[in-house]
Amino acid sequence: MANGTTALMELQAVDLDIRKLEQAASGYPARLQEIENDLGGDRAASDQKQAELDEIDSQRRLIETQIQMHKEQIRKWESRLTDIKTPREYAALSREIDIAKKGIRNQEEEILNLMEQAEALNSEIELIERTILEKEKGYEAERTELRQKLSMLEKDRETLAARREQVVKGIDRSLLSTYERIRSRRGGIAMAAVQPGGACDACRLRIPPQLYNELVTGRGAELIQCPSCHRILYIAVATDSNDDGDAKDAGMART
Ligand SMILES: [Zn+2]
Repeated sequence: MANGTTALMELQAVDLDIRKLEQAASGYPARLQEIENDLGGDRAASDQKQAELDEIDSQRRLIETQIQMHKEQIRKWESRLTDIKTPREYAALSREIDIAKKGIRNQEEEILNLMEQAEALNSEIELIERTILEKEKGYEAERTELRQKLSMLEKDRETLAARREQVVKGIDRSLLSTYERIRSRRGGIAMAAVQPGGACDACRLRIPPQLYNELVTGRGAELIQCPSCHRILYIAVATDSNDDGDAKDAGMART
């Protein structure tokens, strides 16, 4: 293989590690968000019930004030009854007082009704709050673990980024730009191994014998690309038994 290809293989190894890291990390923020959403839904439900409860309480206070005013009015009317001279006037005022008293009884019933509603809402809120607490307790370990994993991955990411910078320094500009161009067009994988039979590992095309010879002998173009998928080709070497799926997909030896 030409030297340019060997240099790019090192870069490919780093890029595959970065890719693997990003794939591993991608699920964590989503899971954290899922947990937040779950708790957020319960909190919103609790807030909604609390708002209803506040509304009921303010209604009840309003009615209580009205009852006080009506009672005050009735007291005034009752004291006037003694001063009334004519039976007709007396009967008329007495009727007013009866109507007012009946009104108070209705309002007192309304208050009882509101208090029952408030009690029911209070139980519902209590239940939701208890659910939130239980859920938070249940999620605690997972959340801590997710945050720790994210911060560990972030450190790994920084290490790999620094390593990549180092590797890139040793690669010719034009080779690098070819590599980057293919990488961006080919789902993040710019290189493909050629198996002993002469097939491209990425797209399975059997590459022409002439090209295969050039690749094996290293006497040809600096970079040899697959005629079909255009990935930079290299000769497959025995893979490490500890190798992971990603590297195998790309036919990379990581040792
Ligand atoms: Zn190919």
